[in-house]
Amino acid sequence: MTNQTNQNYTGPDKRATPGLMEWLHRTSFNDLLTSEMHSEDFNGSRAEFIYMRVRLLAFVFAVLALLWIPVDIFTVPEDDLGSILALRLAYSGLFFILGMLTSGAQKLHYSQQRLTAFVLIPCVFYVCSRLVLSGDIGMEGALIGYSFLPYLVVVLLAIFPLTLTEGISYASLVGIIYLGSEIYFDGSLTISSLSKIWLLTLLAGIAVWAQLAQLQMLLRLYREGSRDPLTGLVNRRVLNKWLSLEMTHAREQERPLSILLFDLDFFKRVNDTYGHLTGDKVLQTFSRLLKRDLAHFNLIGRYGGEEFIAVLTDKDESAAMKIAEGIRENCHTIQTRGSEGCLINFTVSIGVTGLRDTDTTETLIHRVDKGLYSAKMKGRDTVALAEEDAVTPPVSIKN
Ligand code: GH3
Ligand code: MG
Ligand code: MG
Repeated sequence: MTNQTNQNYTGPDKRATPGLMEWLHRTSFNDLLTSEMHSEDFNGSRAEFIYMRVRLLAFVFAVLALLWIPVDIFTVPEDDLGSILALRLAYSGLFFILGMLTSGAQKLHYSQQRLTAFVLIPCVFYVCSRLVLSGDIGMEGALIGYSFLPYLVVVLLAIFPLTLTEGISYASLVGIIYLGSEIYFDGSLTISSLSKIWLLTLLAGIAVWAQLAQLQMLLRLYREGSRDPLTGLVNRRVLNKWLSLEMTHAREQERPLSILLFDLDFFKRVNDTYGHLTGDKVLQTFSRLLKRDLAHFNLIGRYGGEEFIAVLTDKDESAAMKIAEGIRENCHTIQTRGSEGCLINFTVSIGVTGLRDTDTTETLIHRVDKGLYSAKMKGRDTVALAEEDAVTPPVSIKN
């Protein structure tokens, strides 16, 4: 470690649309409005959340619908009983099927379709029951068991983390069906119908508020759970998921992709000499350098300890080698001030490799780790392209 003069360094211009890293750092009203700007990974997590809740509620509704049969037997006029029981069995069966659907748990549009079915089944059952009971429901006794269904659906929507657009769409779906049925069965809108619709709107408003609060909390937790707290870079979990997505995109668009694996040299010595807090500062300085020099790229993460990975989309191996060389040299131009005021320099070794047709995330990372190993073997403060037949290194990436 030698002391050198600080120099300014600049990275390439940032791209216009926010990437994953920027999205993870900012909170915006747009994120509550629609899911358009949400990351693919976050959409997957939210989809799974909705899927789990729809499944659970679908089974509960399937069972509750059957438990209501004895009440129907006592309360529904004999002429209508057969039709009501048939409707009830269909209602329960549809919910059971909805609960059994397991495909595409991580796909947001599947979850949205499931939620639409979850809203539509009781609404259609409600309208059909009213048709069978000749518009008589809601007046007395156990028949009230049908009239509360639209309210129940709107209130239950409160347990889903939905965007404002989604929340209003689902509530409107219930509202339109309810309003249509009121006009159809009563001939026109009565004061009683209007007061019911007012109540439904109030409940929908509270439900949408609860949905947004859940979405906001989920976004915050997701952002916190995706970043390394020390450096603010994405953590290994997100890195692995996103690397796999970027590999798929690169293959679909027939574009090159390369990755860089960085490992600070003799970092243990920094800790041993200056203490862990200073070591942490060095990690932060290096991560700031990566963020600036690789501002064009979406995916820079802390892979563990003093190891970092950058995924360079649209860059082949030779372009990636040049970028890596630039970062290695830039490390010579910056310093970190230790707790006792001393200036600390550090160097980095970098492994480089490009995506091959047969690669999985594991083989890609394994190969770049070989590159890093040869950079270390060449004496550190070096960039090395991973050779296919290089010696397999001892595992240097921490789990
Ligand atoms: P090499 O040049 O071979 O990479 O040597 P090295 O000393 O950098 O590698 P080694 O794996 O022996 O040591 C890595 C050190 O990084 C050990 C560990 O205490 C330290 N480290 C890992 N995570 C952190 C952290 O979050 N903060 C600090 N201060 N140190 C960390
Ligand atoms: Mg290491
Ligand atoms: Mg190291």
